[in-house]
Amino acid sequence: MKNQYGDYILQKASEVLAIPSPTGYTAEAAKFIMKEFEALGVKATQTVKGGVVLDFGGKDDENAILLEAHMDTLGGIVSEITGTGRLKVSPLGGMEANNAEAENVTVVTKFNGEYEGTCQLANASVHVNGEYGDSKRKWSSMEIVLDEKVKNAEDVKKLGISIGDIVCFDPRTRITKQGYIKSRFLDDKLSVAILLGYAKYLKDEGVTPARRTYGHITVYEEVGHGGCASVPAGVTEAISVDMGCVGVGLDCDETMVSICAKDSGGPYSYDVVKGLIEAAKKADAKYAVDVYPHYGSDVEATLRAGYDVKHGLIGAGVYASHGYERSHREGAENTLKLIAEYIG
Ligand SMILES: [Zn+2]
Repeated sequence: MKNQYGDYILQKASEVLAIPSPTGYTAEAAKFIMKEFEALGVKATQTVKGGVVLDFGGKDDENAILLEAHMDTLGGIVSEITGTGRLKVSPLGGMEANNAEAENVTVVTKFNGEYEGTCQLANASVHVNGEYGDSKRKWSSMEIVLDEKVKNAEDVKKLGISIGDIVCFDPRTRITKQGYIKSRFLDDKLSVAILLGYAKYLKDEGVTPARRTYGHITVYEEVGHGGCASVPAGVTEAISVDMGCVGVGLDCDETMVSICAKDSGGPYSYDVVKGLIEAAKKADAKYAVDVYPHYGSDVEATLRAGYDVKHGLIGAGVYASHGYERSHREGAENTLKLIAEYIG
């Protein structure tokens, strides 16, 4: 498989990352993603909930396979406007306060446009706050400092900012000379881009998948019900394409595709894990098999919703997950190689 797909995937990942899509606010990203898949000849249908179901075609309708990746990310929602004109935030998904500190944000209002600001510890000047170093970073001790001349709640409300407005954190996407991609929300927009890479591979090389192959770019994965619905008829196997864990005690790094044997939701299908390992070997894809200590996936939501399918989880290695994440072009390429080989 040609190297060009790695560069293509990182390019598409940056484009998807540039469209904010905290869980619950994904319409713009969905529009872009549908357009991109359609341009590659993949039939894309929007679900009622806001996800995108993809039909990659395929020869054998009997044992259809579904690839699930999520477009929703972490973020925040305005939960309070303080007397000093700051915004308190309730996290969307598992966004950690200490990972949000000092990040630029955009506050998206429902009727009055967007406003810029920064997520800071309350009383953030070290020259003023003697407790700065010792303060625990919790959402209750953090606030959004708006880049507006506001002194109190009244001023903020006059701008048209309300409780329930969406707070989008700057992804700070950067691709380095050595092929690393650093960004917030590689989980799971890198996988969305890998599926675009798969569509491009099918189109460029004139390949029809050996099995009928569907995709579901889900929403609400970060809150646990992304993959609960919209499984096309005939699907007997569902594979989450989501970030692979990288960290102490695990074998995977950012240049590899991770095959998950077990996570917080229990073991993945024995047959699927074994098949994925065989395919990785055959495709010469650099891979690691790991057990993830703290993780749940879309396909587990699919199973919990009652679908009778075999399930698996693969993805490019991502370090510093749910923070300022890092992966590598080779991790994306190896994931694509594995998908192409496994499906045939
Ligand atoms: Zn994820």
